[in-house]
Amino acid sequence: MRRADRGIGMTSQRTRDRLVQRLVEEGIRSVAVLDVIRGTPRHLFVDEALASRAYEDTALPIGHGQTISQPYIVARMTELLMAVAPAKVLEVGTGSGYQAAVLAQLVDKVFTTERIEPLASQARQRFRRIGYRNIRVQHSDGSWGWPEHQPYDAIIVTAGGAEIPEALLGQLRPGGRLVMPVGSRSLQQLTVVTRNGNVFEREDLEPVAFVPLISGAG
Ligand code: SAM
Repeated sequence: MRRADRGIGMTSQRTRDRLVQRLVEEGIRSVAVLDVIRGTPRHLFVDEALASRAYEDTALPIGHGQTISQPYIVARMTELLMAVAPAKVLEVGTGSGYQAAVLAQLVDKVFTTERIEPLASQARQRFRRIGYRNIRVQHSDGSWGWPEHQPYDAIIVTAGGAEIPEALLGQLRPGGRLVMPVGSRSLQQLTVVTRNGNVFEREDLEPVAFVPLISGAG
């Protein structure tokens, strides 16, 4: 790790604790998720110019018109997925790679897809450099899922769409769970789908605002 990274990492311990405290106040209950958020170097997932803001509970730009999600949303979606104790997770929308890194510390294997090639390769390099060895990244339209490794115990879509892509539901293991922001371009509901056999039980939770899922799958 370079000297600049070490410096930010060290001075940020108190700011990381403050972030975790805020997540607790906002209702995050899972100690495992909170510990992982505290331990994940979010400053290494944003541009150096934004590193000093990395432990604010806010989304930040990552280039190409995309964002790294707000830590609260990452914690909330992770907590919702962890309720089914997944071992193998698919993420659609790698972005910076932060959400995948959080998941990789809680599950055996993470498969993540990103449609913008420079973001996919940057995330791949970050995982290698920081040492996350159980994440596979693919440059692709993730609305088709990643059929090769199905079925998944859990699927997380970190971009908003009008509908949940059928292909993703088909790649979810019975007993598995999918979390995705569903709604209009500017506002969505955090939606949880739990698969019981071939029945998909859907629950709409709080409003959220994500960048759009650009989907060739309709
Ligand atoms: N999970 C990311 C993180 O931790 O930084 C944040 C994701 S950002 C809010 C949404 C990402 O979804 C963007 O990087 C965007 O390019 C990607 N995306 C949008 N449509 C996609 C698609 N069909 N397949 C794969 N990625 C997609």
